Amino acid sequence: LRTGEQYDELISLDNNLRSFPNVTKANATFVLLARNSDLPGVVNSIQSVEDRFNRIHNYSWVLLNEEPFTDDFKERVTVLTRASISFGLIPREHWFQPDWIDEERARQGRQKMMAQRIIYGGSVSYRNMCRFNSGFFFQHELLQQYRYYWRIEPDVKFFCDLDYDPFLYMQEHEKVYSFTISLFEWEPTIPTLWQTTKGGFLSWVTPTQLSPAVSFIDFIAEYPQYVENHNAMDFLSNDGGKSYNLCHFWSNFEIADMDFWRTEAYTAYFNYLEQKGGFYYERWGDAPVHSIAAALFARRDQIHFFRDIGYRHDPFQHCPSGEQWTKGRCSCDPTDTFDYTANSCLKKFEKLFA
Ligand code: GDP
Ligand code: MN
Repeated sequence: LRTGEQYDELISLDNNLRSFPNVTKANATFVLLARNSDLPGVVNSIQSVEDRFNRIHNYSWVLLNEEPFTDDFKERVTVLTRASISFGLIPREHWFQPDWIDEERARQGRQKMMAQRIIYGGSVSYRNMCRFNSGFFFQHELLQQYRYYWRIEPDVKFFCDLDYDPFLYMQEHEKVYSFTISLFEWEPTIPTLWQTTKGGFLSWVTPTQLSPAVSFIDFIAEYPQYVENHNAMDFLSNDGGKSYNLCHFWSNFEIADMDFWRTEAYTAYFNYLEQKGGFYYERWGDAPVHSIAAALFARRDQIHFFRDIGYRHDPFQHCPSGEQWTKGRCSCDPTDTFDYTANSCLKKFEKLFA
């Protein structure tokens, strides 16, 4: 029988071996936005990430909140990992509804959405969250030193072991954005987002009126600095950009490159959306905003589907199959996967490369 001390030593030896001291690590961190009341779900998620991946890699954690985390919260979370954890406070101006938003108009928007029974339709805090995740999280001081992040939410589950480092994968393959689940957005949450992007933002960049006959190629050729030549427009639109098909990447899972959000193109795009007020007048989600930007400003081959990462955020999950499922010792049912179900956009994504 070993003493507790001996056992600790073994674990730490094991941990050192597992953390591949001689292997390059990416400049990356986990990011988790949460309220103090999210504690049980936060614990579940961190445990899942640590068990399936991070106990080997020891990437740091950054937790963010617009209110200070309680001591109890910090203690319950810190105990779950050997990696460093920091707890950050979100600056007021990155979170709360700006004063220049017409509150009466915003209230009417919320009321209308509640009447339509749209999820979070009446919630201001949800809108704060979507706006923060769209344009501000990567500006937080605790994230300045990092390039890549892996977004985690409370009560998500990772089903499989990963035998490689997805951050390094992103870096080595020049990926800027990745997903495990893609789906159709609720149209009533973003009635004017596409028009704002296309007729507003894009025509703000170019005077060209985008009629269905004018292909985006013309525009792209003229303004390569914002819209990428080999973009993924066909993921977003079935008619060359005329209308939005509502496909987006489900952003509760993201492994992505913050330097992409920090580019001139994305900064201009976010500022343009922000100035239109749609985060409050409507309920623009960070998922369609990130997705549209990734699809238009990055090369299509810079967006990656992590087929081998088994992941669940209620009510959907992606479960790998075949060899990936076996190798990953996955705990999910491989037949229960969102991939080619009716509301999934994965087929459209794959068609980009067909
Ligand atoms: P859903 O996944 O769209 O149903 O939205 P969630 O309730 O999971 O919120 C998305 C993320 O934002 C999660 O990480 C939440 O913990 C976090 N979040 C949502 N609202 C707030 C809030 O008011 N304050 C803080 N600090 N985090 C929030
Ligand atoms: Mn969630």
